[in-house]
Order: sequence, then structure tokens, then C-alpha cells
Amino acid sequence: MTGTVLDRSLAAELVRDLSVAGAATTSVLAPFTGEVLHELPQGTTQDVEDAVAAARVAQLAWQQAGYRHRRRVLLRAHDLLLERREELLDALQSETGKTRGQAFEEVFSGASVTRYYALTARRVLSASRRRAGIPLVIATRLTYKAKGLVGVITPWNYPLSLSLMDVIPALAAGNAVVQKADNQGALSILASRRAFIDAGVPAALWAVVAGDGNEIGNAIVDAADYVCFTGSTATGTKVAERAASHLTGVSLELGGKNPLLVLDDVDPAKAAANAVYSCFSSMGQLCVSIERIYVARSIAPAFTEAFVARVKSLSQGPAYDYTTDVGSLTTAAQLERVEAHVTDAVKKGATVLAGGRARPDLGPLFYEPTVLADVTPAMACVAGETFGPVVAIHLFDDEEEAIAAANDSEYGLNASVFTGSRRHGRAVAERITAGSVNINEGYRASFGSVDAPMGGMKQSGLGRRNGPEGILRFVEGRTIAEATGILTLPRTGKEWLALTPVMLLLLRLLKGIRRA
Ligand code: NAD
Repeated sequence: MTGTVLDRSLAAELVRDLSVAGAATTSVLAPFTGEVLHELPQGTTQDVEDAVAAARVAQLAWQQAGYRHRRRVLLRAHDLLLERREELLDALQSETGKTRGQAFEEVFSGASVTRYYALTARRVLSASRRRAGIPLVIATRLTYKAKGLVGVITPWNYPLSLSLMDVIPALAAGNAVVQKADNQGALSILASRRAFIDAGVPAALWAVVAGDGNEIGNAIVDAADYVCFTGSTATGTKVAERAASHLTGVSLELGGKNPLLVLDDVDPAKAAANAVYSCFSSMGQLCVSIERIYVARSIAPAFTEAFVARVKSLSQGPAYDYTTDVGSLTTAAQLERVEAHVTDAVKKGATVLAGGRARPDLGPLFYEPTVLADVTPAMACVAGETFGPVVAIHLFDDEEEAIAAANDSEYGLNASVFTGSRRHGRAVAERITAGSVNINEGYRASFGSVDAPMGGMKQSGLGRRNGPEGILRFVEGRTIAEATGILTLPRTGKEWLALTPVMLLLLRLLKGIRRA
């Protein structure tokens, strides 16, 4: 193995930052080797209740401190994230088994979202004038109030960036956060959280608890004023149901079965090189990763040949530096799921063009990037999310057929169009039912656009993160409308009789001058 694994004493120190009082722990394994990485304290409902109580107190002062203070703190945290990047990359790789480059993608995204909300929160959330129903007689303003306590529940696959995409806008808007980290991602979250605490975020304002999904998750949903959940559609649905019973708002970032359309006007070799990263980054354990490729029949032989050659040439292995292209799966359950999808496909007649086997010689959870052809709807990998390094190539004869196939899914998270004409790509993108569509990129163009909303349609989610939409989740809009006293609104039949003609005139005038 090249490079160095995360320092064990640092791991032990970081887990002490959890808001967990008891002595129960669980062993977290390092995907690269299967060795115990560290013992992670497991929280209880009581830990969540204690964290919530402390966070609510801390939130009052944080909200009072105002936007300027929060901006200073967040910008300082941004710099600390960059300064401490090597430590963060070690933590991310140790827990997830991804490559150093793909771990850097997380640090880049986390820093970007921190900078973005530090610099934009005040502008988006400052009080503004709104048009009154009756000009001059009424003056109307909109102000925003932080919701209070935001519950954030995160998965293991992108522990740093997916956390910060919810936690930072929540904090920037003046809220406190109690987060449930997945056991396999807690260390990366705690390492990044340290940068924020050292920059001036009060420790109680952002608490992190690890433990059983049901117990800790339910306790957070029950206590929070708003809930952000990232994970599977099945769990997200349960979270939404529980939150609904309290009339608590939620945003849900769920699964995907993301299609890539390769149109007949591309350079097949270039398109193939670009497509590979889109399918196998973080071993496909990425919600916006491509799992279905639809390629125009006329260029399919050239594209497929170049794609398969490129996949076979990827260097794979455990390395805490930039010497590999792809890493390991993260958990034994993931390996089982990937193997089940490939075995099922092969049994039902799929052709394996590349990969298709585990690589225990590299480490316990390594699996080769896999390309399938000749797949049919009877195979589990065709409609269901593999969430692993498996992509199926389908052929199409005309674009209508390709668009219909891309949309034929219960999911609608991300999609991609590769074309020689960006203009044509935009026209196709408009017809795809997905929260983001990338042109000549797999997912990074939209994932990195922090000013634009990200989220899913259909079973892929509810609500949006990133952009102004991503911070408006965490505030309540409050309309403050005043009677100016210029004219008194009618209260009696007589007053109505007198003022009705004036009001009719006003309505016609407002429409006439096109005033909204
Ligand atoms: P998961 O749903 O099993 O777990 C996600 C989180 O929810 C974990 O922290 C887990 O402990 C917690 N949890 C489990 N049961 C809970 C409950 N009853 N109440 C509240 N929380 C509970 O998902 P996973 O296997 O960790 O992640 C993989 C899935 O997440 C994939 O489907 C993937 O597509 C999706 N995902 C989506 C996005 C996105 O932004 N759309 C990003 C990453 C992952």
C-alpha cells in the first residue's frame, strides 16, 4: 500500500468529539484492509435529547450574532478545511476506500459550499419589500426567521461533502444542527467539523451523534424543526412519514438510476474516456453516478471498444496517494449487493465486457469496474440501483427512443447527454425527467455548481440543496404588512358602497399598467 493511513491517535481523539455519553462502541473497519480502524461510541435517544437541549441554547446566541459574524467564522473555516486537507483526505479514504482524487472531490465540494453560503446568506435572507395588495395604503415586507434546530441524517458514501451541503446553509441561516452520522462516515464528519469549531462555531451548535439508524434517526426527526435526509429511498420514505406526523418539513436526497445518452455526433473515443469517470468514481457508490449508458447504434462499436479498453486500463488498489484510478467498495454489504446484481445478470444472459469479479488479492472489498451488455428488464441491475461499479450498455436507433428509455425509471436524480452540439444537448436535457442534467460531463458539472439547486424528481427525493433554494429550506418566511394610514380600508356596508367603484378602478388600472 502506498501513502499513510489516518493517524490512529487522531482517530481516537476525534471520536471524543461525538455527543455520546455511554461506553458502548462498535468496530469500524477500514475498507482497504478489513482491519479495525477505530472503536466508535454508539449514542442513545438520551444523547440526542441532551445534544438538542444544548444546541437550542447555543442557537439563540448564534442567531443573535448576525450574518457578518457568521460569514467571518465560515470563511475562516473554509481556510482551515484547505489547510487540513491531507488529514481530511486520510480520514475519507480510511472510512470509504475511495481514491485520494475522489476524496479530494469531497474536500473541494465542502469548501465550495462553505464559501458560497458564507458569501450569499445575508443577501438571500435579508428583509425585502414586497408589493402590497393596495399600493400606498399597505406597505409589505418579507423577513426570514431561522427554523431553530435542523436535524441532518447522512450516509457513508460522501460523508464530508453531503454533510456540509446541508449543515453549512443551516448554520449560515442562524440555525443549530444535530447530525446523525453513519458509523462508516463519522470520522470524516468529525474531522471537518473541527475546522468549523476552531474557526468559531460553538461546539454545542453542531452536535454529531452516531448509532443505530432507527433509534438515533427517530430521535432526531422527533426533536428537529426541519430534517435533511440523505440516503436510500426506503429509509427516506420512513423519515418523511415520521416527520409528517409532527408537521415537520423535510428535504430528501435519495437514490438514482442515472442514464447517460451518447448521441451519434460525438467523437466515440473522447466520449468513452469521459464516460468512464462518470460511472466508476467512488466505485459507483455515488447517488449521481451513471449506471445506464444508451449509445447510438451507429457509433456503438467504436464507443464500446474505447469504453471497455479504458475501463480495463484503470489502475485499482489501496493507496493513500494519487497513484490509483479506482479504489475499493466501502462495506461488505456493498460487495454482496454488487456481486448479487452481476451474478443475476450473467445467469439471465448478460455479457460481461469488462470486470465482473471481486479482487480479494487487492483487499477484502475490491471489485473490478464492470461493464455489461445484452441486459434485459428481467435483470435486477437494469431498473434497480446497484450503487456500485456496474454499468450496462444499451443501444438505440433514434433519439426519441433514447429519451423515453432514460425517463423510463422510478428515479429522476441525475442524467447526462454527450453530444457534439451543446445546443442540441440543451434541447435533449429539457426533455429528461431528472433534477440535474449534465452535458458532456457525467455529474461533476452540476454537482460542482453550488449556486444551482440539486435534488431529485420522482422517487429520488424532495426539495433541493445548493443555491438560494438550499438555504431557504432552513428559514420561515414571515410577512409583515402595515396599514400606512393614507386611507382606511372599508369596514361597514356604507364604506364598501363608497369604495367599491374606487377599488374596481384600481384593479383595472393595475392590470392596465401591468403591475403584478
Ligand atoms: P440508508 O438509507 O440505509 O442510510 C442513510 C442514513 O440513514 C444512515 O445514517 C442510516 O444510519 C440512517 N437511518 C437508517 N434507518 C433510519 C431511520 N429509520 N430513520 C432515520 N435514519 C435512518 O442509505 P445508505 O445505504 O447509507 O446510502 C445509500 C443510499 O443513499 C443509496 O440509495 C444512494 O443513492 C443514496 N444517496 C443519495 C444521495 C443524494 O444526494 N441523492 C447521496 C448519497 C447517497
